[in-house]
Amino acid sequence: MHICFIVAMQAEAQPFIDMFAVSEVKDFFAPLPCKLYSTEMQGHTLDVVLNGQQHGTDLVGCEAAAVTTMAAIQQRKPDLIINSGTCGAFEANGAKIGEVYVGNAVMFHDRRVPGDDAWGTQALGNYPLSDRSAEIAEMLHCRMGKVTTGSSLDMQPCDLEIIQANQGQLKDMEAAAIAFVASLYHTPILLLKSVTDLCDNGAETYEVFRRNLAMASQAIGDANRKVVNYLFGLKSEC
Ligand code: SAH
Repeated sequence: MHICFIVAMQAEAQPFIDMFAVSEVKDFFAPLPCKLYSTEMQGHTLDVVLNGQQHGTDLVGCEAAAVTTMAAIQQRKPDLIINSGTCGAFEANGAKIGEVYVGNAVMFHDRRVPGDDAWGTQALGNYPLSDRSAEIAEMLHCRMGKVTTGSSLDMQPCDLEIIQANQGQLKDMEAAAIAFVASLYHTPILLLKSVTDLCDNGAETYEVFRRNLAMASQAIGDANRKVVNYLFGLKSEC
């Protein structure tokens, strides 16, 4: 089996990269900025692909995620894409900082396109996810939630309106873009997210995000390790 993790930020991927000792394949995607880390494990292939950087900062958001996913699928041809990363969540749903979730649906929350139902449907996305998502959540003993994606870290009232109208639970900046590209190639995709911040408790998102990034990245790294061991059928925990 060939699994390809798509991760936005180096900090989110580092604990996992270290756990599996995946090594960087320099300039694999040149001239694109995305970075490939890869290893072979008992006949299986594990890739971790990062968006790379611009202006000395990790590329986050939908455009970079879509380019990275398209390049990864075309050049690596994985059996499964896993988008692993951090997200915001809602205290009102009982979410906790550091909690790991598996996505059970994914859509955009900041694409407001007037028109008929077909335009609205396209704008919101709602892309298919791997039919093994529930099985993975059960294995991890974690909850499932609907991921909604937008281009900003903050949340404007119109974003919240769409999130609430669609029962969104986990807010990020990449998942729907990655799922969109995966759907075009009919590549199954799983979403694994850990919570860095709570969007409805009045705290400054950026500050809270920065404070919890290392802890949440460790949590998602642990979950990723369990998922890889489970899907590759490896007995010993790496
Ligand atoms: N300025 C930040 C940039 C990180 S953007 C920094 O200095 O590190 C936030 C990243 O974490 C995105 O990749 C996004 O997918 C995820 N994320 C975490 N919490 C989020 C939230 N509340 N809303 C949207 N994205 C969030």
